[in-house]
Formats: sequence, C-alpha cells, structure tokens
Amino acid sequence: MPAVDPTVRVTVDGVDVQVAPGTTLLQAARAAGADVPSLCFDDRLAPFGACRVCLVGLAGLDRPVASCTTLARDGAVVDTQDPTARRVAGAVVELVLSELPAAPASHTELAAVARHFGLDGDDLRWTGATHERDIDERHPYLVLQHELCISCGRCVRACDEVQGTFALTATGRGFEANIAAGLDEGFAQSACVSCGACADTCPTDAITEHLLLDLAGAAATGTTIEGQS
Ligand code: SF4
Repeated sequence: MPAVDPTVRVTVDGVDVQVAPGTTLLQAARAAGADVPSLCFDDRLAPFGACRVCLVGLAGLDRPVASCTTLARDGAVVDTQDPTARRVAGAVVELVLSELPAAPASHTELAAVARHFGLDGDDLRWTGATHERDIDERHPYLVLQHELCISCGRCVRACDEVQGTFALTATGRGFEANIAAGLDEGFAQSACVSCGACADTCPTDAITEHLLLDLAGAAATGTTIEGQS
C-alpha cells in the first residue's frame, strides 16, 4: 500500500505553506508570515477559542472562524484580512478596552493587539462602566490588579497545564468576570508555588511582579529603586 503524504497544504493571503496534520489555522497563518492577533492564545497552552480576536476568513464558509481552534485541512485557503473577521475581532478588542480604567501599558500584549486594529484607547466608540482599581498585594512577589483582567483565562490554564498547581480560579460573569487565587483568600493563602507562569502569560499586567510594577513606577517618575540600577 503506498504511503500517504501527511503534509497539509494551506494558502494564507496568497502564500502557500505546508504544515503537519493537527496544525491549527493560526499556526499555519503565522508559519506563512501572517500577523494574526490573539488574546486568549498562548502556544504553551491548549487552544481555548474564547476571545475571537484571531478570526480569519476561510474559503467556502460564509462566516469567519477562530483560527486558534480550527485545524488546517489540506487545500484550505485562509484570508487574514477578511473584512467581517477584521470588523468583528476589532469590535471585540474595542469592547475589552472600553472596560479598562485606562489604556493598556504599551509593553503589554493587549496594547499590541489594540495597535493592530488601530485602537489607541482614547477614541473608543463604546463608553460605559469601567473597572475600578482593585489591587491585591498580599503575595510576596506577585501583584494582582483585578481592574486590568480581561478574563482571557490564560493564567488559570498556565497554572493548571504548565505548573499543575490549580491555584487560580475564574470567577464571576460578564462585567464581573475576573480571577481569584484559591478560594479568593489571596495568593499567599492559596496553593500558589510562586512559579510566575501566570504573570508570564498575562497579556495585560493584571498579574505581574512587585518588582516590575515598582520599576515601571520609578521610570514614570524618574526615580530609582534601591538595589536596582
Ligand atoms: S489575570 Fe491576566 S491572564 Fe488571568 S484571566 Fe485576567 S487578563 Fe487573563
């Protein structure tokens, strides 16, 4: 019996790329050099498909698909500039930004995604309730800035899948959605082992390190922190 060629051939924005079976459209698009934004995706974690920011057009379908959870099929033709995909994904990002108390810090993934869609955070179409400052500094290394959480779930999945600690939990729904450490008793009282996987994957600085926050504050005020040059 002749061997079956396992290669999957995909065309992304006119660029042909060959990928292995099991590759997602997002991975294929990035392999082809396309700039597809995402918020809930982290290639160290299992695809989640929650944020809808990675929408792309797929030939033969009349609506865009989430590229992070759609497997590439041989002969697939992907359009990362599909107008409907761009419009819907951009609106999602705009809604996310509209709930924040301020524009995201420029170094964050969220800020990069906002720039991708031409959203600088100052001229959003939607206005309404924004999250109030709610900071948890009880952990010796990590800071949880609840108001910056966009409920992407990456920290919870990193804690579960990378560290296997299960210290974080998604809480609330809609505008109230957020995350909590343990049974909401704070990081220090949870099963957290201070690995930092949550802070490393957080796209907004909702979870970050005390030191990084202090350095950012010092840079903003032109001061220095003792022991840091
Ligand atoms: S804390 Fe960060 S990583 Fe966790 S759900 Fe919120 S935005 Fe996502």
